[in-house]
Amino acid sequence: MRREDLYRDVDKQILGDAMVSDEAVATLRHLCDTIGNRMAGSTGERRAGDYIREHFTRIGLDNVQVEAFPFLAWERKRKPVLRLTRPARASFASIALPYSPKTPKGGIDVEVVDVGDGLPEDFHRLRRQIRGRAVLTTSESPGYYHRWVHRAEKFALAVKHGAKAFLFVNHYDGLLAPTGSARFNKKAEVPALGLAKEDGARLLRLAAGQAPQVHIETFDRAFKAQGRNVCARLTGTEKPDEMIVVGGHYDGHDISQAAEDNGTGVATVIEAARLLAPHRHLLKRTVSFVAFSAEEVGLLGGQAYVERHKAELDGIRLMVNVDSIGDGRVKGYNFHGWHEAKAPLQALGAEMHETIGYASRPGAYSDHFPFLAEGVPNCSLGTVGGASGGRGYGHTAADTFDKVSRIDLRQAAALLARSLLRFANAPAWALPHKTPQQINDMLDRFEIRDVLRREGTLPSRLK
Ligand SMILES: [Zn+2]
Repeated sequence: MRREDLYRDVDKQILGDAMVSDEAVATLRHLCDTIGNRMAGSTGERRAGDYIREHFTRIGLDNVQVEAFPFLAWERKRKPVLRLTRPARASFASIALPYSPKTPKGGIDVEVVDVGDGLPEDFHRLRRQIRGRAVLTTSESPGYYHRWVHRAEKFALAVKHGAKAFLFVNHYDGLLAPTGSARFNKKAEVPALGLAKEDGARLLRLAAGQAPQVHIETFDRAFKAQGRNVCARLTGTEKPDEMIVVGGHYDGHDISQAAEDNGTGVATVIEAARLLAPHRHLLKRTVSFVAFSAEEVGLLGGQAYVERHKAELDGIRLMVNVDSIGDGRVKGYNFHGWHEAKAPLQALGAEMHETIGYASRPGAYSDHFPFLAEGVPNCSLGTVGGASGGRGYGHTAADTFDKVSRIDLRQAAALLARSLLRFANAPAWALPHKTPQQINDMLDRFEIRDVLRREGTLPSRLK
């Protein structure tokens, strides 16, 4: 049989299976409804890891194993106290951001300085007013700015300028307080709280243009824990040491079901494994599946994997990360600065009779990044292209199962399974590993090294 004809037959089986079975939805539902909170280091995350391991075994993957690593976990205790004390008095609901420390007993009293969207320029302009005060900023990274400005960068800038607290206000309606780590894998220097958009606006209205003063008390704690990556593979028949790594993080934020971020990603990876397994005899190279732990608290699972598998990195053709599949009708891949991928991806789309979105803009905030830092070609599956307005319901209590559509899971899993077969078998491969110098040049074009230096998360290899 000619190669194209052979794949056509496999495509029919993969697509047919994906479209008539409900396995991916059932996986997502189990993660969301039965397990729920999968915060790194929690019992929910442990249960999710066990469930994924059983799943990989049931599908019949090879080498199913759990790879543990130590990290600093964090858990919220009592609800924080946040009270406006001047010029008016009012109480506000808020949630602590991961790694926010416990305040001294009795709390702290600080004035608030509003830095708006918290762009680096805003912090610079208001730098003399920030020392000793609480910084209030939105969760928005405005579309007019030339790059994404992450919460962790805003927090780092606040600390750098001597802030005593950090108030992080959602920019979406719905009385939803946003979460997200203030620091990664270490205790934050000052308390950090998430506020709903409506509460942040009310606080500023009550201040009526004067400098508001707030009382803050937090009760949360950090503790030593173990993360666990769950790994398995379909072993290649011709060149088993050459591989495609495909993964997504299964930990989530504790305040929600973490359905989109990243129940969808891990359900997509598991479903792609299930769809591909019956065709394993066709795979010339190995496909390595990884459910990463502890992404939301600092890409710790991705880092642990890269450290543990250092000797294999040269043999990785491509790392495919799946973190939030999105709801755009056209799914595709962002190749994070490997522009050479465009033509082969177009050829792939033509062969598959499929529209596959393409982008190539490096990002630093998911599990592909530790691979990128090592020069390994990598991409993210999801809705690609267009400006990113933010996380939507992600990182709020509203990131729930009902928001995810069945067709998105089906499309993402089928596209992933069909792509993996081709990525693993293509005789020629256009994506080279990059040297540290090439990675640094690429990241510098997007100011990413500066930002990570500021956040304290720049991998030592890139210093
Ligand atoms: Zn995520």
